[in-house]
Amino acid sequence: MKPRSSVTGFPVPDHDHTSCLADVIARAAATFDRQGLRLTDLRRQVLEEVAASHKAVGAYEVLERLASKGGKRLAPISIYRALDALVAAGVVHRLESRNAFFACHVAHGGNRRQIVLACEQCGAVAEVSRPGVFDDIMAAASAVGFTMSHALVEVNGACAACTRSDRPET
Ligand SMILES: [Zn+2]
Ligand SMILES: [Zn+2]
Ligand SMILES: [Zn+2]
Repeated sequence: MKPRSSVTGFPVPDHDHTSCLADVIARAAATFDRQGLRLTDLRRQVLEEVAASHKAVGAYEVLERLASKGGKRLAPISIYRALDALVAAGVVHRLESRNAFFACHVAHGGNRRQIVLACEQCGAVAEVSRPGVFDDIMAAASAVGFTMSHALVEVNGACAACTRSDRPET
C-alpha cells in the first residue's frame, strides 16, 4: 500500500494521492455546506484540477485542462469566479508570487497565518506551521503601530525530493 501524504509539509514521493484528493473534496463539500453554499459542478471540477497534484497551477492551466477533457470551453471569468469561491472557502490558496493556485491539504480552519514553501524545481507547494514566526512579525508590526490581521509568508527554494535527486519529481 502506498503511503498517505503527511498532514503538513511536502508529500512523500509516490504517495497515494487519491486519498489527498478525496480529503480535499470532502473538506470542500463540508465547508461549502456549513456556509450554506453549494459545491457546484464547476467548483468541484476546478478544485479537482487544482488538487490533482501538490503543485500550484494558473487559472489558464485549469481552463486548458478542463477543455482538454472534452467539456465545453469555459470563459476565463467562470474559472476565476470558481477559484474565488474556493479561495474564500479556504480549500484553495493563492500563491501570490506566481499568480497560481494550490489546494490546501491542512485543516487549519480560520487560522490565516500561513507559511507556504514553494519548490522552484518541481513546482510543489506545501504549508508548514511555526507560530513563533508570526509573533515576531506581529511584534515588528506593532512597534510601528500596525495591527496585523493575517499574514502569508511565501518561501522559495527546493523541496527534499528535489534536493535528494537532481531529477525533479514529475
Ligand atoms: Zn497527495
Ligand atoms: Zn491551507
Ligand atoms: Zn521539488
